[in-house]
Amino acid sequence: MPTAEPICPRCGYDLSAESRKWTHACPLDGACWECGLRLEWADLFSPDRRRDVFFVEHAPERHEVLPAAWRTWWWAIRPPVFWSRIRLETAIVPRRIAWWVFCVLLAFHAFCALASNAILGKLRGWDLFLPFRDDIRAETFTAWLAPVGCLIADWRGTTIWGYRFAPAWEFTSWGPAYLPLLAMSLMLPIMLLVLKDTRAKARVRRAHILRAAVFGLAWLVPLMLLALAHFAFNQWAASSNRTNLLYFQIGPKWLALESIWGFALVPFGAAWILWWWWSALSRGWRLDEHGRVWLAASAPALLVVVIVLALDQDLVNLLA
Ligand SMILES: [Zn+2]
Repeated sequence: MPTAEPICPRCGYDLSAESRKWTHACPLDGACWECGLRLEWADLFSPDRRRDVFFVEHAPERHEVLPAAWRTWWWAIRPPVFWSRIRLETAIVPRRIAWWVFCVLLAFHAFCALASNAILGKLRGWDLFLPFRDDIRAETFTAWLAPVGCLIADWRGTTIWGYRFAPAWEFTSWGPAYLPLLAMSLMLPIMLLVLKDTRAKARVRRAHILRAAVFGLAWLVPLMLLALAHFAFNQWAASSNRTNLLYFQIGPKWLALESIWGFALVPFGAAWILWWWWSALSRGWRLDEHGRVWLAASAPALLVVVIVLALDQDLVNLLA
């Protein structure tokens, strides 16, 4: 349960010396001595004003956590909505942030993996989950392994020689946009934390950066959904002998639809991540220098996207 403390909600500076000066009356608003945040004292002293029962971190009952987690995702996918609602004064409950990862990201991943297994079962026979049907067992596991990689079957002639695990940079069913966008999502908060200059300018408590980093992974849900839709289309095309639909002809070259849609998502995802952090810095944390801090953190994050893309052999082949 959030408690009322006279500390600055942005930088954590103890403002109790200020409140001790009040004897008969107190001002309604003031500013933090350390970071200059304009604040209403009532936001610090009234626990009700620091809670939002519709937010996953503050859902009062256990059975309300799941709907609140998805409601929070629906705010987060529209960054200005999230950051207008979740303010610096909104008390941070780290345990519930972990619950959000479980209820939204992991649960949706499990749902998509089950759905893609069901598609395989429907199109290729439900006995594929039995040990003797080893021809496509790799694909049934690959959907589950998406965040870290995939399982590849090694064929010798018409029989499978063995399976090997391939890391996500070789292949993931979440598509080629996943790793560059993940790298960007990690790089931005790291830059805010480690760059002495941005930390000094930002003066934002680590817990706020952690909260923004975790809910800033909201883009994974549409990515998983698109990957599932793509998988379903692929399987349908393969099972109905329409594999020609999976390739595009540009000039003399045949390009796999998979690579094209995958890489096309990168600019959209990157734009969303930039929008998320812009909203966090300006609307959520109300930084005076939000433009400069945002640029200092965004530039290295975009550079990381370019580096991860440049290391992707598939993109190199696509552009060659
Ligand atoms: Zn402060």
